[in-house]
Amino acid sequence: MRLVQLIYCSRVAASVHGTAITSIVDVSRVNNARDGVTGALCFNANFFLQCLEGERGAVNDTYHRILRDPRHERAMLLRYEEVARRQFSDWSMAYLSSQALAPDLLLQFGRNDRFDPEQLGADGALEFLLALKAKSIRLREAA
Ligand code: FAD
Repeated sequence: MRLVQLIYCSRVAASVHGTAITSIVDVSRVNNARDGVTGALCFNANFFLQCLEGERGAVNDTYHRILRDPRHERAMLLRYEEVARRQFSDWSMAYLSSQALAPDLLLQFGRNDRFDPEQLGADGALEFLLALKAKSIRLREAA
């Protein structure tokens, strides 16, 4: 089995409101548990940043399904790697809202205190999500 990790960011579509996020997270947890996909989804009013990890085919199928979703746009692939182990193995889909995005983290990884994942490189995107994980700023955790 080839284990891969994929990280992308995208822009929240103008029509999307708060309840859409809940429904995205709920569906993701069910599908990802079924497909053996783990990861984290981080967002604010403007951007999503998501890590998907799992068997290559499962991650690929999930990513292509996500790309077709009209609730976001301008998806940008930031990182795609074969990995030896998962880094978000406990989470079918952790959910990190903008409230969890501490200013010190944003300053450490970005150019200013605004969450703008399009500025992150491949390593920066992973390190940013791992830093969030390390701080345990999870508003809701996967079952
Ligand atoms: P169906 O539920 O059959 O829907 C058909 C189409 O309508 C799809 O293109 C779907 O994207 C779209 N759609 C579904 N619900 C809505 C809605 N409320 N408003 C507008 N369009 C809608 N899914 C996962 O399985 N795992 C993930 O990790 C994951 N992460 C996501 C991250 C983001 C940022 C977004 C925007 C979506 C994510 N999704 C994820 C949801 C994914 O895009 C699909 O909606 C979901 O997987 C169901 O796919 P489906 O083909 O069964 O679509």
